[in-house]
Amino acid sequence: MRSTPALWMIFLLITSGCAQNKSAPEAKTVAEVMPAAGPEKASTPQSAPTVNANRAMQYTKEIVAIGPRPPGSAGHKKVESYILNRLKGDSVEHDAFTTKTPVGEFALNNIIAKYPGTKDCVIVISSHYETNYPLKNYVGANDGGSTSGLLLELANHFRGKKRDGCSVWLVWFDGEEAFVKWSASDSLYGSKHVAEKWKMDGTAKKIKALILLDMIGDADLNIERDSNSDPKLLDTVYAAATQFGYQSHFYARELGIEDDHLPFKNIGVPAVDLIDLDYGYNDSFHHTSEDTLDKLSTKSLQIVGDVVLNVLQRLELQ
Ligand code: ZN
Repeated sequence: MRSTPALWMIFLLITSGCAQNKSAPEAKTVAEVMPAAGPEKASTPQSAPTVNANRAMQYTKEIVAIGPRPPGSAGHKKVESYILNRLKGDSVEHDAFTTKTPVGEFALNNIIAKYPGTKDCVIVISSHYETNYPLKNYVGANDGGSTSGLLLELANHFRGKKRDGCSVWLVWFDGEEAFVKWSASDSLYGSKHVAEKWKMDGTAKKIKALILLDMIGDADLNIERDSNSDPKLLDTVYAAATQFGYQSHFYARELGIEDDHLPFKNIGVPAVDLIDLDYGYNDSFHHTSEDTLDKLSTKSLQIVGDVVLNVLQRLELQ
């Protein structure tokens, strides 16, 4: 049912030959896009909490200022300490482990912050924080930086509040990137480790949704419709984006994306990846020394942060 408008949007994008104008004219009011009655109305949140995107950007800047943070480096240790310092007083689990890679053994560390709710279910919001091991002079401002910063701001949002609903767990994955070349075995080290653990201890059954954020700080924000993501969650994200008038930044193209959500999808957890894989012309900044702070915008962090909070509300209503 959604394939026709999706194809139509791709056609428009190709024929216009220019992605620069995408954010301008498409915003519609909630009344225009929302059905007047039916199930969607019942699941539409009435309030719209927002994140402090300036603070999320400040955290991103501080993470990037640490410099490259590949596994095994001083920068990697520093960014771990930086994240943990910001989570002081929260319930934090360290999922530390050692793994074999094509270039030897590495100690990796997933960081999980837990904000309890009243119901026996969990919603996970996640990102990876390390930078790509083989890349030199690479700070990953967008790739790993922006999402780690936004997750820290989401922690501020959840801290100290009573949650009437599922618990929220924030996860900073380690070892998302390949150590040599992306393959099924050389990638997603941290998320595979957490997924295996949650499968064994029964946590996986309690997870209502896993939302993964990756490369969403790009000033020219175009979030893909990832065909490996859960279709219902994809729709929930789009409904949330539409409620804010942000839908022009979502789903102009459909791609199948391999990312930290896949190990969870593989054990039956509904998972969605919010990722912009069009970073610079023809993705030219991705995994290069061009992935720097000047390519990011606070507005993009605002859009994604607000949509995530709205999705959380929608999931509680479903
Ligand atoms: Zn990457």
